[in-house]
Amino acid sequence: MLTAIVGINWGDEGKGRMVDMLASQYDIIVRYQGGNNAGHTVVNDKGKFILNLLPSGILHHSTVNVMGPGMVIDIEHLCNEIKSLVEKGIKITPHNLKISHRATICFPYHVRQDILEEERLGSRKYGSTRRGIAPVYADKYIKKGIRMGDLLFPHTLREKLENIIEWKNLLLYNGYHDKIIDTDEMLKWLWLYGESLLPYICDVSEYLENAIEENKNILFEAQLGALRDIDYGIYPYTSSSTTLASFATTGAGIPGMKLDKVIGIMKAYSSCVGEGPFIAEFFGEESVRLREAGGEYGAATGRPRRVGAFDIPASRYGIKVQGADEIALTKLDVLSYMEKIPVCVAYEIDGKNTKRFPTGDRLLKAKPVFDLIDGWKCDISSCRKKQDLPAEAIAYIRFIEEMTECKIRYVSVGAERDAYIDMDMV
Ligand code: GDP
Ligand code: MG
Repeated sequence: MLTAIVGINWGDEGKGRMVDMLASQYDIIVRYQGGNNAGHTVVNDKGKFILNLLPSGILHHSTVNVMGPGMVIDIEHLCNEIKSLVEKGIKITPHNLKISHRATICFPYHVRQDILEEERLGSRKYGSTRRGIAPVYADKYIKKGIRMGDLLFPHTLREKLENIIEWKNLLLYNGYHDKIIDTDEMLKWLWLYGESLLPYICDVSEYLENAIEENKNILFEAQLGALRDIDYGIYPYTSSSTTLASFATTGAGIPGMKLDKVIGIMKAYSSCVGEGPFIAEFFGEESVRLREAGGEYGAATGRPRRVGAFDIPASRYGIKVQGADEIALTKLDVLSYMEKIPVCVAYEIDGKNTKRFPTGDRLLKAKPVFDLIDGWKCDISSCRKKQDLPAEAIAYIRFIEEMTECKIRYVSVGAERDAYIDMDMV
């Protein structure tokens, strides 16, 4: 069974908690794209964890976790993340963590470039997480990247890095007039953090191919959501990688394999970190109330997230480009305070209503059309079965299901591992 868990919206839908919840049914969890710009929060019997780079299955003792070729890895951040989990009693060894030799290393100069460019842009900034993700992906595609596997060939590493840094200084030193990047310093950094990771670096393709032959179940974990995909998202306010399920096996190291199932994660309302069009956005008191109720602050950065109503046109689009077979609707409990729940059912563009998510500058013209759905006005966080939910909550779920035309299989009502309802269970 090959299943992908992906975001339908702008990210932070609760993918980490769903991976953690479903991980016991899978042997292997693979992160297939992105870097430490991700912030996946997991709350379980071991405590609260925020995972940036490690797959969210790392907290299960029986799963093997893979960091795929599609990832970009800040090795300093990874070492610190491993260290902090080990200190909390989580076992991490080359048996339960495997890092692809094809994954690209994110260097301190990528982080620096990210910061310099956001600062140069000022009010025109992208709202980057400033973790070097856009620069490192750009370098990968312009073929100026260093990969994890390069650490296995130390005798050629200096020359490779020297060539890249010579080029990089044309931009950072000559262009931005920043401090010159020093090859010795970068090599020192590489070995300081890279050496302890050597036992984890391998050909994950070979490992996963064997696992498939042994009929193992594999779960692919995405970072961010459909609307942040580099090609199909709200470009240029996207991430720099492919967040779509169709990339899962490619980014994982087994491009020839087909997925059996795609589970799309969407939140019962909307949130968005950073800049860019966000049509169903709330402002003023309404936004403060929802942000506080949902604890909507970035897991990776602590930034307050923009919040808004559930967005039907955006979610329909997200479901389509993800090819989602079923949905996990998260954080329904957060809406319990609302008398009437606004849902953005359409966009008004040039005087016409549409449920189709527009591209390019047409999106900038869109105005939200809201419907008000009756709230349930009671605590639902202890509901564990469909029958426990108030009729208004079921009606809200069914309304979204009908409008998005995708089956809602799971509904979560709290951050803890067991705080969810399987809508198929009677
Ligand atoms: P991810 O990036 O998609 O993994 O999501 P994040 O971890 O960034 O954001 C989701 C946040 O919502 C985290 O703080 C979770 O602990 C929390 N969360 C997840 N599911 C629920 C839920 O059903 N109810 C509530 N109240 N919080 C939840
Ligand atoms: Mg997140």
